[in-house]
Amino acid sequence: MSFSYDAKSEMCKLESEQSCCEKAECYGLLLCAKSFSLQAVTLVTEHSLVARRAAQLAAQTTGAIVDVRTAVSFHRSSYTLLVQEESHRSQVLSAFGHSGQEISLRVNLANLENDCCKAAFLRGVFLSCGTVTDPNKDYHLELILPYMNLAKDIMSLLREGIDFHPALVNRKGAFVVYIKGGDRIADLLTYMGAGGAAMELMQVRMLKEVRNNVNRKTNFETANIDKTVGASVRQVEAIEKIRDTVGLEVLPEELRETAELRLENPELSLRELGQLFQIPVSRSGVNHRLRRLIEEAENLK
Ligand SMILES: [Zn+2]
Repeated sequence: MSFSYDAKSEMCKLESEQSCCEKAECYGLLLCAKSFSLQAVTLVTEHSLVARRAAQLAAQTTGAIVDVRTAVSFHRSSYTLLVQEESHRSQVLSAFGHSGQEISLRVNLANLENDCCKAAFLRGVFLSCGTVTDPNKDYHLELILPYMNLAKDIMSLLREGIDFHPALVNRKGAFVVYIKGGDRIADLLTYMGAGGAAMELMQVRMLKEVRNNVNRKTNFETANIDKTVGASVRQVEAIEKIRDTVGLEVLPEELRETAELRLENPELSLRELGQLFQIPVSRSGVNHRLRRLIEEAENLK
């Protein structure tokens, strides 16, 4: 199953807390679902646990009769929670202080009685209309809402207290509140009660960082080897030019020794080459002699 699916499963397994929070979670679930009006109270989900939890909470906190229908097609199941009777829909709406006549839905903050309720409400919202991307691909969590004002109200809740830095985008007529960044998403998942999913996200991120560091290091070492090889090739070419024209014998003793050692050991670094001299020479000493050899070669017509 997907990362998002697992995060939702984890949230659905949370034991019920205080009744104020159960009501707040139920409110989040229904308010941000497909419809929340006198004509229809409907939540559609692919997650059986979400449907079951929403139905239980709704029945418990509003007393309405709630049905869940299952539609199974070839590769996916879908669950629809609905309230059939209009009188029961009215009962659900009034339980949360809504009339069902609102042109644009807003969050009725009276349903978030205590400080503890905000997390439960946001969990309900996420279960209802949220998804979180697999951290192996991206750090992205989004909530897809049908109304601009509702989206803005939820953004303010995501900003106050702990600021999760939400942003808003309009996608095909829907209002998408999204959060980017591994840290923020892990914090929000923890806040909503999915500490396990948050932990998994952090582990994936750590592995990615280790992998990137290894790649960076390997690239750096490869570049250094290329540099050494490139320099050695130029030195060997210069020495061969001297050997094949005037001969190495005309060189002063220390340059002749350098030239011969380099020809025999083109793969060695300057430091390693320096160790092979009769009287060992420092890295910069070897470098200096090789430069002089290159100059000598350039001076040859
Ligand atoms: Zn509460």
